[in-house]
Amino acid sequence: MSWDRIRGHAEAKNTFRSAFASGRFGQSYLFVGPEGVGKRLFAHELAKALLCERPPAPLTACDSCPGCAQIEAETHPDFITLRTPEGKHELPVDEMRAFCARLSRKPSRGSRVIGVVEDADDFNAESANSFLKTLEEPPPGAVLILLATGTDRQLPTILSRCQIVRFRPLSSGDVAAVLAVKGIADPSRRDKLARLAGGSVARAMALDDDAIWQVRETLVAGVTADRPNFPKLADAWARFVEEAGDDSAGKRTRASVVIGFLVDALRQSLRLALGANASDIDATEESRLRAFAQRHGPDRLLELIEKCVEADYRVERRVQLILVIESVLEQLTKATK
Ligand SMILES: [Zn+2]
Repeated sequence: MSWDRIRGHAEAKNTFRSAFASGRFGQSYLFVGPEGVGKRLFAHELAKALLCERPPAPLTACDSCPGCAQIEAETHPDFITLRTPEGKHELPVDEMRAFCARLSRKPSRGSRVIGVVEDADDFNAESANSFLKTLEEPPPGAVLILLATGTDRQLPTILSRCQIVRFRPLSSGDVAAVLAVKGIADPSRRDKLARLAGGSVARAMALDDDAIWQVRETLVAGVTADRPNFPKLADAWARFVEEAGDDSAGKRTRASVVIGFLVDALRQSLRLALGANASDIDATEESRLRAFAQRHGPDRLLELIEKCVEADYRVERRVQLILVIESVLEQLTKATK
């Protein structure tokens, strides 16, 4: 059954099942959670369950009827998705208008139309406003689902008209299980990726790339060096981010993955400063981290970890990435007093 493809998110599943069973199914939902935890898959499976033509149980898709097949292929006439076009950073108002127009048409196959705004973080004032009317009075039978990383980028008028469904980071076990489905065969590799992925499959997949480990080496070695070369490090990090091309979510993931590596190295360094053993690192790196720890001391290391965590938050909030990169490196390469 299609729900089984979704790892974790038991709370969200229960919300929809009980709403459906009690006839209180809403028309507008805002899914909120970090990138790569399965919001999009959840929305697609929910649409399938709602549009299935031979449901074996309430709100359950059969995965074999023409309706289910068309959703899988994204060709179902009553399943409409809206994404930010490649290379753009905002949802264009004309595409938003076309999306709303399609939602207001009569369903072709059943009694519902499901519309998913996959990049609700990317509303601009114009596209948000043009969507409001549809959100205020959804066409009969329409179900609207908005996918966003946080509530703080949404207009209050949008928030007040949607039921908010929270998606939390997945457990490492769930991430590893998804990686197995995605074809990563080596269990120890899966575990390592899952451990570093912070509950996000997208992040784990991004980590499954040798280029990332090279960047890690360059940055961790560079930052902990006696005399860090700020321009060289900023350039290496920025180039790595730019390699994601037009994919702005990909760029943010890459920037954030590097911050994760730095935080990990700082934590190891802090452990060494406090006299504990560093886990999982080789001898060369251990001696670099130990020297770094001696130069900075535990208080400063804690402060640096905090700065990195703040920077990661700014990446998520879409601050210009080069500014985030430079501010992190400026902190980390500052000479000790
Ligand atoms: Zn079906």
